Amino acid sequence: MSSSNIGWNFDNSYLTLSKMMASKLSPVPVKDPKIILYNQQLARELGLDVSSVSKENLALMFSGNMIPSTTTPWAEAYAGHQFGHFVMLGDGRAIVLGEHITLDKKRFDIQFKGSGITPYSRNGDGRAALGPMLREYIISEAIHHLHIPTTRSLAVVSTGQNVMRETLLPGAILTRVAASHIRVGTFEFVAAQKNINLLQELIMYCIHRHYPELKGEKIPALQLFRKVMNRHIDLIVHYMRIGFIHGVLNTDNVAISGESIDYGPCAFMDSYDPKTKFSSIDHQGRYAYGNQANIAKWNMARFAETLIPMIDVNTDKAVEILETEIETFSKIYHQKSLAMMRGKLGIEGDNEEDNLLIEELLLWMNNNQADYTNTFRALMNKKFNTQYQNKEFEVWYKIFEARKPNVLKMRQFNPVFIPRNHKVEESLEAAHTNNLEPLQTLLKVLEDPYKEDEQHASYLEPDPKKDKTYKTFCGT
Ligand code: AMP
Ligand code: MG
Repeated sequence: MSSSNIGWNFDNSYLTLSKMMASKLSPVPVKDPKIILYNQQLARELGLDVSSVSKENLALMFSGNMIPSTTTPWAEAYAGHQFGHFVMLGDGRAIVLGEHITLDKKRFDIQFKGSGITPYSRNGDGRAALGPMLREYIISEAIHHLHIPTTRSLAVVSTGQNVMRETLLPGAILTRVAASHIRVGTFEFVAAQKNINLLQELIMYCIHRHYPELKGEKIPALQLFRKVMNRHIDLIVHYMRIGFIHGVLNTDNVAISGESIDYGPCAFMDSYDPKTKFSSIDHQGRYAYGNQANIAKWNMARFAETLIPMIDVNTDKAVEILETEIETFSKIYHQKSLAMMRGKLGIEGDNEEDNLLIEELLLWMNNNQADYTNTFRALMNKKFNTQYQNKEFEVWYKIFEARKPNVLKMRQFNPVFIPRNHKVEESLEAAHTNNLEPLQTLLKVLEDPYKEDEQHASYLEPDPKKDKTYKTFCGT
């Protein structure tokens, strides 16, 4: 195997769409690329083999300085509603290297994030800082190992160049692996062109690529809508299950594949509070933990709007059909959410009172600043610290026990390890002083998040400083 052919098998179907959808261009080379992280396990899944490649060449490949001759990279056009406002966007700092087909015929976008200016960069520099790229790597891999559909991270390369943010920061490029990068925002971009043929083309492309079972449906746009909405209901139910706050559920960050994508100002909740948010720019709590289902429904309404012309020639009728669909969101969400919470509590059947049981536990946790993950862990292990020696909790616990919880079921729903904010920060800080050990250990711990592991007890605890002011930043 020559050093530049590590097993790539590109077939760039996105470029068969209208020219408006993408701009072909190469990443802007960087000065001094160095490989920081390379995901061997994911590489194997993709059928890549870099065993004969030097570290220097690996860095050249995953910085985009060296592009395989079998592909023509591109940046994608899209739009989106950001914090409720419509904007024309596009890959301003990302370039798809190509669509890689694995041996088992799965198709993945291989994308460089932080790879330089594109026609969609607006006022941005096209670059990314090392901290946020390592953060996306940690969180996306954690989400994957928690068994939630997500984009993944194959590599992080430092560029040897600084980027200007609030201060000068070391630059980096992340290699992201995704089922595709088509978003609700891609549909909004097409709808804004008012070009029915293009819309029809995109719908059929999505069905072919992500939902082949819908081929031959009478109203493909409606079936596509249903599928995407259901995938996003599932995704939010997962977020609620693990206490995850995405932080920027803008329509440009809502993937048609249903994968969780774009890890910027995201974080895991420690003490239970539906109002929890971490993004420094989300002043209103639009993307707070407890508002994620509402926002997902709002995003699906924006998706539906783009599909109107493909639902019925009569616009009023099309709108009515789509409104009826969107109205099913809440009911489906509540059913799935209830099933998920029953899973977390390990209770079977559908006792009418379960809703109350769940509500009461959540309220108790909220009032007592109990850690979300660790409360369910305590229930699974039947080991309670002093926080739970509390009258109200004891009353609740008696009713819960009477439901004969199934611990094996609970273990499938409740993670033991999540990326605790202070552990993430600690590992990023160390990485900035060239100490990658804490990062490697954290990634290792997060590979098996449902299993107890006494060796890593320090990864179980919330931040000892209980940092309510923890903020993460996006777009850096
Ligand atoms: P995000 O908040 O990461 O979803 O990004 C929103 C939009 O801003 C996308 O169009 C990005 O490509 C663009 N963007 C973010 N950071 C930069 C940057 N440094 N340079 C150019 N475009 C950027
Ligand atoms: Mg984005």
